[in-house]
Amino acid sequence: MRSIRSYFFQYLLAYIIAITGVFLAYRYYVEYPRELATVAEHQSRELRSLARSLQSDTDHLQVAVRDWSHWDDTYQFLRDPKTRTGYIEANLQPSTFEVFSLAAIAFFDADFELVFAQGFDLEDSQPRSAESLLPSPLKQTFRAGGLPGEPFQQTGWLNTALGPARYALDYVTNSLGDQPPNGYLMFVQLVTEEHIQALEEVTRLELELAAVDPNAAQPHLSPAGKIADGSHHGVADSRTQLLNNSAGQPILSLQITHDPIADPRLIGPSGIGMLLALALVPFGIGLAIDRTLLRAIRRNSARIEGMVSNNSLEELPRGFPVRELEQMREAFNDSVRLTRGHVEQLRQISQTDSLTGIGNRRAFDEFSDQAWRQAKRLNIPFVLAVLDLDFFKEFNDRLGHPAGDDALRLVGKALDEFTPRSGDFCARLGGEEFVVILTGMQKGESMERLEVLRSSIEALAISHPDSAVAPVLTVSIGAVHVAAPLLTDHGSLQDIMDSADKALYCAKRQGRNRISTSR
Ligand code: GH3
Ligand code: MG
Ligand code: MG
Repeated sequence: MRSIRSYFFQYLLAYIIAITGVFLAYRYYVEYPRELATVAEHQSRELRSLARSLQSDTDHLQVAVRDWSHWDDTYQFLRDPKTRTGYIEANLQPSTFEVFSLAAIAFFDADFELVFAQGFDLEDSQPRSAESLLPSPLKQTFRAGGLPGEPFQQTGWLNTALGPARYALDYVTNSLGDQPPNGYLMFVQLVTEEHIQALEEVTRLELELAAVDPNAAQPHLSPAGKIADGSHHGVADSRTQLLNNSAGQPILSLQITHDPIADPRLIGPSGIGMLLALALVPFGIGLAIDRTLLRAIRRNSARIEGMVSNNSLEELPRGFPVRELEQMREAFNDSVRLTRGHVEQLRQISQTDSLTGIGNRRAFDEFSDQAWRQAKRLNIPFVLAVLDLDFFKEFNDRLGHPAGDDALRLVGKALDEFTPRSGDFCARLGGEEFVVILTGMQKGESMERLEVLRSSIEALAISHPDSAVAPVLTVSIGAVHVAAPLLTDHGSLQDIMDSADKALYCAKRQGRNRISTSR
């Protein structure tokens, strides 16, 4: 048989599994997709903002390069670069580079051949060679954007010896823009740490720009321009934006790291906390039930087990915290009372002589023992007398057994009336033999009382035609009087009983219908 506790833990386990399942299902199918969608939207807004910022910077550069490329002075310079050195001196001033944050300005002829290039160190405000900023071969790069001599413009990214750079290229024509291109003008802008920081502030993303090694095998690279990520439902901690040159080859990679706080989890700390709280509530309830209800049940069942092993029935005290158990306690106590009543009834039946209604041998054994011990304790006189009807066999033989029974009943009644005090006692030992106990009575008085008893039986005047001593039924009595049970050595109760039997024998021998005392 299992305990309530084990049932409780089994149900608790099932409950925890069930709520975890429901919670996970709810998270997975309802909340989590919603959170993912929100974060995905948030992240795509960040990415759009990044794309806009990048595009806006590119647009500025493109506007600047168009301003210069669609200009008569530049047009004239490219028609005859050698003779027009004044153009360079007049226009490629440090301020020009600084205004547009340019690292280099390059002129190409209609065949994409470099005509002139000037680099500038913005940090030192010093001109420098443009060589390290113009990776070769540029021709192929431009060709991918348009055919030589065609009016086309282009923006893109470069991986230069000085770091990643953005460029804008535009065909050169006169100020009116109605002449066919006679070359191309290119502005190159280094992407500096400040650029990245400014971008980070606008987009609130963490950014890192790195060169892509064109020789390295990079199978993970996504199609140019797409953002590569290991995203889940459009949500990712970080992703890589590939920046292409005009030929569409990825040459730079922009590592984008999103705000990690916004990253949703299927089960986060709050989810675990909620599950724990949901599990702790029934656990707490179970503990409270165990401390109150189950403890009371255990205590009382131990009490009942104790009663069984001690062979004593007791009523259970109050102390159950709930009505149902209190009702059970009441029912138990009712059955205890009922059983006690039955036990008492049985005890009386077992100690009563069914024929005469007075005590039987068992009652005598119990009472005589108690009375003898009390007499010794209090040292009060103790009288034991055995009575035997005279010639009762003849009585039965002559008058029949039923008449014998009637006579026994009358004698029993006489004995009962003779012993009304609590210290006095009478019983039928069996057959036509009776016993009487008197306590606290001096010898003379007790002998007088026994004589009264003897004569009262004779006075019943139960006719006994076959008696050799009288015409009526008589009794012989053997008595023992112990005056001071503590002082005189009378031995055990059995010795007293034997003495009384001897006295009875004497009474019989001396002629019956008389009292004989021992010693
Ligand atoms: P004595 O004077 O020496 O005592 O002789 P007695 O005949 O009384 O003694 P005995 O022991 O020989 O006979 C006892 C008789 O008591 C025998 C039996 O018929 C009778 N008797 C015993 N129990 C009962 C009983 O329950 N009912 C009846 N009717 N007779 C009983
Ligand atoms: Mg007898
Ligand atoms: Mg007899």
